[in-house]
Amino acid sequence: MTKLDESRWQPPRRLSAAVISWRADRIAEPVARLQFLRQSAAFLSSRPVHRALRSARLRHLSAFVLALGLLPVPTVSDGAGRQHRAVAREAIGPGYEAATVWQVESTDTHELYSNGLRIEKRYQLLRQQPVAFVRFRTATEQMEQRSTPYGIVFHTTESHALPFEEGQNRNLRRIGAGVLQYVRQIRAYHYVIDRFGRVWRIVPESEPAHHAGNSVWAEEQHFYLNLNASFLGVSFEGPSRDESGQTPVTAPQIHSGRLLTDLLRTRYRISARNCVTHAQVSVNPENMGIGYHTDWAANFPFEQIGLPDNYLLPPPAITLFGFQYDASFRNATGERLWRGLDKADLELQKGAFARKVSLPVWRRELTGRYRRLYSIARQPDFSVEGN
Ligand SMILES: [Zn+2]
Repeated sequence: MTKLDESRWQPPRRLSAAVISWRADRIAEPVARLQFLRQSAAFLSSRPVHRALRSARLRHLSAFVLALGLLPVPTVSDGAGRQHRAVAREAIGPGYEAATVWQVESTDTHELYSNGLRIEKRYQLLRQQPVAFVRFRTATEQMEQRSTPYGIVFHTTESHALPFEEGQNRNLRRIGAGVLQYVRQIRAYHYVIDRFGRVWRIVPESEPAHHAGNSVWAEEQHFYLNLNASFLGVSFEGPSRDESGQTPVTAPQIHSGRLLTDLLRTRYRISARNCVTHAQVSVNPENMGIGYHTDWAANFPFEQIGLPDNYLLPPPAITLFGFQYDASFRNATGERLWRGLDKADLELQKGAFARKVSLPVWRRELTGRYRRLYSIARQPDFSVEGN
């Protein structure tokens, strides 16, 4: 990973949830602390703001308010009396249903779809045993299985990106072929989108690929541990960042990414919320830190892929299991993901207040929950080896 230029790094300009959390943490008296937090939230949840949120013309304001993570959102209570934040509808937004896509033809070498997507099969691994895809019901922690994946994790192959120009054709093709061979060898992803936008299926969708390693995600009713067992891996050829801090993804790659995402979402009824980047889900159980892998920590073109900006969602690893992040992860992320992190921090804080315990105590309880579930997720019939 290329280090970001220090001079480009800017702290959040606006009053952030993290600042409020920090201040609240320093108020010793629990009732006064709760009052402070309530007031902070109340300011932004006042009626005019709510009205503004409902107004389509002011949708940008909703993004701003939600980005601060201070608007109270509905919560659902699980069987154990815990409160979990329901999906912030405004963050997901309406209109993110996948376009309907069907298969037009299938040959030994490729498949063609109604939206123009062409899937190349030359590097596809032979089908082995189909597996069950696994998730947990949040309310009961009960494991559920089905035969199809629940979501998509987007990656980059972290390979070298030559300048995308005609004079580089030969080398671009050579590097692309090398990447595909390597990915195939280690069953790294279900799909690779090369720099010309060609979509290569590597691991059949009915089987796990080793793409996500230790990872956490959640939606309204369920959470996911070790996403190799539940999500498909789609990887864009290239590094996560170049020297300028940008992700050198090409226009054909983004175009194909959208077509492929639409196909997978149609085929498996994958919700927009369950289409996320590796950096959003990756965790390190050894130090209980998030962002062990940082591909697509910033710059993922959610909008162009036909998805809501999921960077704004608080990472469930923090809110459900008490994971933490350090300055280096924050530096690797873009401002959009900071907003998700700020929201997660505030949510954690609220959880501690609601239970009248200190933040460290609440976090210990959550991490204990993760460790207990992690041991289940590591059982051989559940887990697959990952990075
Ligand atoms: Zn990755």
